[in-house]
Parts: sequence; C-alpha cells; structure tokens
Amino acid sequence: MSGTAKTHYEVIVIGAGVCGIYQIKRLVDLGIDAVVLEGAAGLGGTWYSNRYPGARFDSESYTYGYSFSRELLEEWHWKERFSGQPENLRYLNHVADKFDLRRHMQFDSKVTAAHYDEEENLWRVSIADGRELTCRFMIMGLGLLSIPTLPRLEGMDKFKGRSFHTFYWPHEGVELAGKKVAVIGTGATAIQVIAEIADKVGQLTVFQRRPNWSAPLNNGPISQAEMADIRARYDEIFATCARTPGGFEHEPDRRGFWEVSREERVKLWDHLYDQPGFAIWLRNFREIFTDEVANAEFSDYIADRIRRRVKDPATAEKLIPRDHGFGVQRVPMETRYFEVYNRDNVNLVDLSETPLVSVTESGLRTTVADYDFDIIVYATGFDAITGAYDHIDIRGVGGETLRDKWNDGPSTYLGMMVHGFPNMLMPAGPQSGSASTNYPRGIETGVNWCTDFLEYLRSHGHERADASAMAERRWTDHVTKMYAIMLMRKAKSWFTGYNSNVPGHEAGRVRYFVYNGGSPKYVATINEVAAKGYEGIELSGGRMVSAARTAMPQDVRI
Ligand code: NAP
Repeated sequence: MSGTAKTHYEVIVIGAGVCGIYQIKRLVDLGIDAVVLEGAAGLGGTWYSNRYPGARFDSESYTYGYSFSRELLEEWHWKERFSGQPENLRYLNHVADKFDLRRHMQFDSKVTAAHYDEEENLWRVSIADGRELTCRFMIMGLGLLSIPTLPRLEGMDKFKGRSFHTFYWPHEGVELAGKKVAVIGTGATAIQVIAEIADKVGQLTVFQRRPNWSAPLNNGPISQAEMADIRARYDEIFATCARTPGGFEHEPDRRGFWEVSREERVKLWDHLYDQPGFAIWLRNFREIFTDEVANAEFSDYIADRIRRRVKDPATAEKLIPRDHGFGVQRVPMETRYFEVYNRDNVNLVDLSETPLVSVTESGLRTTVADYDFDIIVYATGFDAITGAYDHIDIRGVGGETLRDKWNDGPSTYLGMMVHGFPNMLMPAGPQSGSASTNYPRGIETGVNWCTDFLEYLRSHGHERADASAMAERRWTDHVTKMYAIMLMRKAKSWFTGYNSNVPGHEAGRVRYFVYNGGSPKYVATINEVAAKGYEGIELSGGRMVSAARTAMPQDVRI
C-alpha cells in the first residue's frame, strides 16, 4: 500500500501493535478517514518483533485478548494460560483479518518526523521512504518497549560470530545445537530466553550485572472444557480486571501485613508461589509495595526459595538481588529458570565482580577473562516509555520538540495529551494508566477515551484540542507525588527511566514514567474529565473556544 497517492487523512495512527489495531478498528467503525503507519513489515508490535525462544505473556492469555467483540471472544481458543509469541501474533493477525483492518495499514512506513503546522492546524508526518502525509489528528500507538538498546562496548562490530538483541531475534530461527552462546542481561526477556535455550545449546554463559527477583509463571494448557468455562465467565473476568489496581485477575490480599502472624504470611506465600502468573506479586499484601520492612521479609522468603532450587550455594547467592526488594521492579516470571544453573553446560558470570570490558572477534572480554562464543544474545532491554517518542522528530507549537520538552522526563495531561502538541493523542502514553497495568486492558481504556474524544470534537465542531499548561502541570505533579509512596521509586528499572545504555538515563535521575494510582482510579479520573466536557483541554475551531475547560478536575487536586 505504500504506493498509495492519498496524502491527507483525518487521523493517522502511528504503530500497528495491540494499540494501533484496536484504534483503527474504532475509527473505521465510526467512518473516520484514518490510516495506520507501521515501520515493520507486519502488524503486531511487540509480538511481531520479539521472536526469541520463550517469549510469552505474563498476563493470563484470556485477560490479554481484546474484549470489544463477543464473537471474537467466543471463537478464539487460548491454548495456554500464558500464550507464546507465535500464537499471540497469530491472534493479532486473526483480529486484523476478521475485521478487515489490514487495508487501513501501511507497513514498512517508518515515521521519522511529525511537525505541527499551526497555520493549517494539521500534522505533517514524514516517512522514511520520503513521503509526507498530513492529518488533523495524530494518534500514537508507539509501544512502551519498542526501542531496543545495546551496551556501549568497544569492539561490538568486530565479533565474527552472530550477535543480536532479543528484539531482533532472526525470524527464521537460529541453529543453537552445539553452539557456544552468551546471553547478556538477566531481565524478564533474558530469564525467558535462558530457561528456554539452556538445554538446546552446547554451552550457555550468562553475563549478569544485577540479578532480578523472579518467581514461577506456573503456565499450563487450557483445555476445550476450561476454555468453554472462561468464555462463559468473560464478563466476570473483565469486570475483575477493571476493579483491580493492576488490571489483572489478581486482587491484593486486603488483610494488613502486620495484622496477621508470620505463620499466616508464610502460608499465603507458600500458596501464591504455586499460583499462576503475577499472583505472587499482586495477590500479596499491599505493604510489600510501600513498607520496606514488610518487603524485606517477603524478599527473604523468595531468596530462600531460590536457595532451595539452586544446588551450588555460591551461585544461588549470586542470583539473589541485594540492591532492591521483590516487586519494586516489574517481576520477571520464570519457568524452571533457577534450575538452569544446575546444568553442567551453563555458567554464570557475575559482572558486578568482573565487568565486561569489550567485545572481541571471538567473544567477550571481562576484566579477568576472555570467552569464546558462536552467538552473543543481547537481552539488554529498551529505551522504555519515552524512547519511541524520542526517536521521532516531533515538533509542536512554535517548533518546540517533544524530545527537548521531555528531556528531564515526560509531562502529560492524563498520559494522553501534551500541552503545545495539539491534536496529538496517546491512548497508552507515558504517565497513562496502561504502562503499569495489564497492558491491553489499559489500551482499550485509552483507545476508547481518545475515540470518544474525537467524536465529541466532531459533534461539537471543534478542530483543535490542546491540553492546558496548568492541567498538564497538575497531572504530572500528581503522577510524581504518587511515586513518593512507592518503594519502586528507588529501583533502577525502566519504571524510573533507568537505562545504563541511553545517555542521560543512567542511574541518578528518576523519571516519572507511569501512573501508580491503579486502574480504577485512573479510569474514574479520565471519565470524569470527559463528563465535564473534557476539562483541562482547550478546544477551538468550529463553534467556540472554551475557556472554562482549562481548569483541572477536582479529583486530581491533591
Ligand atoms: P530489562 O528488564 O531492562 O533488563 C535488561 C537486562 O540487561 C538487565 O539485566 C540489565 O542489567 C542488563 N544490561 C543492560 N545493559 C547492560 C550492559 N551494558 N552490560 C550488562 N548488562 C546489561 O529488559 P527486558 O528484560 O527486555 O525487560 C523489559 C520489560 O519488558 C520487562 O520489565 C517487562 O515489562 C517486559 N517483558 C515482558 C515479558 C513477558 O513476560 N510478557 C517478557 C520480557 C519482557 P542491569 O539491571 O544491571 O541494568
């Protein structure tokens, strides 16, 4: 479709991932002239790109799928409780085909710049192939974790074997049998890939800078009968997700941590350790997120679990995090990860003792040794949340760049708009409710809000919408203040904007990336803003400019 001559659309959606797919569905249903631009050769976003062995949901599959179509819910059989990448990509392609959405998508259309034209009140969107399209509204479906980052090591281009970031794991697969493989990193991605390939490679060496807390995923198949039961309960399942802070089925234990005995706490943890998914994190006592002593007691419990699973005590100790407690970073879920280190063909290199120095022609060099490899896998994470925005030259009113505006961290209104960047909507933007929750549940909320907003503008004859500076400041302050009660503010993780490989994102400066108030509060807030005629947003064009709507909704005055 990239040869199409059409150059103006009412709406351009950037990104054909989980967000972009649903967004275009809503727009098409309303008869809005819209297109999706996607840089990759196919749709699916995260699930198009991350094809490394072991890539799978950590959300229960049936809470990850879209909820908007009863027919879709009825016909799709999730085969596993935590479905793997190939199936997830099949699902998203099925959705696109079923609703005939592909014809509204242009692939291999990487957006490089988007400049707001004040005179014409439209966005000029540049594509890498040289085209320029224009639109009245621009909707960002860029993904939270779509810009992979590599270490900055000397000699990376000298390595004679194969090397790639997990995000770019070759689509045709990689021959692993008998190969000497290095994995750099021990985040959620590495924990999945290490556990999956350890018994398929010749030798595996894991280069760990900091260990992560991790607990069993407890995945399993979903039979026909179980799926029938899930289908019958879909309304109830989505209602549960809507009322829990994380948007998952998991509801926190409402008992106070200190109100029950130590024996009661351990009983709960013994139970949760065997439960699927994030139960161990999100069905836990709420104090583990806010109370250092409570968190330390629970972290000690998990540390003992690791010691019981790893035979060599010295290796077990290396795998236990010391610099942060359990759950203050997003918890990687694992399947027999710790047992990997009991294998003869697996070696753990602790980079806190012997840092990486360089990449050589034949492998990796630390301060004390050279290692030879056939394959180096960089499981080194992403320029999270704002990275995808930073990679597009986005310019708003007066030519201000979003990159500059967000240099010290994002500032937004409701995580969905940015003052000075009119008509740019972010259904799952920085500081929105999506980033810290079950992502597709948050996406549906964001897409529905943005779509309703567009309808409102259309029906009221408005052509320009810009969040007021005051509303943006208050929302950003609100998001910032909420970090203060969370232990996660101290963690070196992508929730706080840490990435040692991105200049300016090294440890030290906290970026307030996610809304921590929980899904129900977020949804209530954005719905109230809508009910009050989109309070906090300056509307113009058509019938009126609404000065009254520059105030801030009461419930975020804190
Ligand atoms: P990550 O959590 O940022 O982990 C990156 C890892 O690479 C860390 O262990 C990091 O060590 C290490 N690293 C980075 N640069 C390094 C360097 N220069 N030298 C040595 N080590 C280096 O990234 P991720 O594992 O890709 O996960 C990111 C997020 O993606 C997760 O939190 C999760 O939200 C999502 N995810 C979800 C799933 C799922 O189950 N659905 C699976 C994978 C990922 P330091 O900690 O020391 O920086």
